[in-house]
Amino acid sequence: MKRIGILGGTFDPPHLGHLLIAEEARIALELEEVWFIPTYEPPHKHEASTKGTDRVQMVEQAIYNNKNFKVSTIEIDRLGKSYTFDTMSTLKEEANEAKFFFIIGADMVEYLPHWHNIDRLVDMVTFVGVKRSGFRLNSKYPIIKIDIPLIEISSTFIRERLKANKTVKYLIPDSVYTYIKEKRLYED
Ligand code: ATP
Repeated sequence: MKRIGILGGTFDPPHLGHLLIAEEARIALELEEVWFIPTYEPPHKHEASTKGTDRVQMVEQAIYNNKNFKVSTIEIDRLGKSYTFDTMSTLKEEANEAKFFFIIGADMVEYLPHWHNIDRLVDMVTFVGVKRSGFRLNSKYPIIKIDIPLIEISSTFIRERLKANKTVKYLIPDSVYTYIKEKRLYED
């Protein structure tokens, strides 16, 4: 049975925290691939400040040198609210023989009870929780916890630094930085 990791997120922009948790989960859980799925409209978060197509391009730039990482445009193509339940229902239909591991940071773990159709979703995927500063990794739902280095980077922090013309070197991949500058993203 193919073991596939899923990392959903706004990726506005993708940063080294995303890449690190995907790679650590891949190794710890012996995943064949990790699919990055940029949300179109996050149900529980502020709207992305950047177009879906740009966020897909930035993820592609971020993962180009990891052959086990893929990007899926399923949520961007579907439009509307990006419920994980809908996404996973489709993916499971398409790849019935696969076992899906859904990777989430501790901020999302806290929010799990509010996810759309969570009681059915927990039967469809195995949740994998990773720590994030300021949040507890506790859940009434079954999650596998993997121990990774705590990495205090968020997209919010990157956006703030870019707006303030501060360096983001070593926080996001150089390829993502080049794309941001070319497209003049995150400028006022
Ligand atoms: P924002 O600051 O815009 O809210 P974010 O940095 O949380 O964004 P997302 O794209 O929303 O990034 O995150 C996608 C997934 O990656 C979520 O499950 C989130 O918890 C997790 N994640 C993001 N950054 C980290 C990090 N530094 N450590 C652990 N998990 C992270």
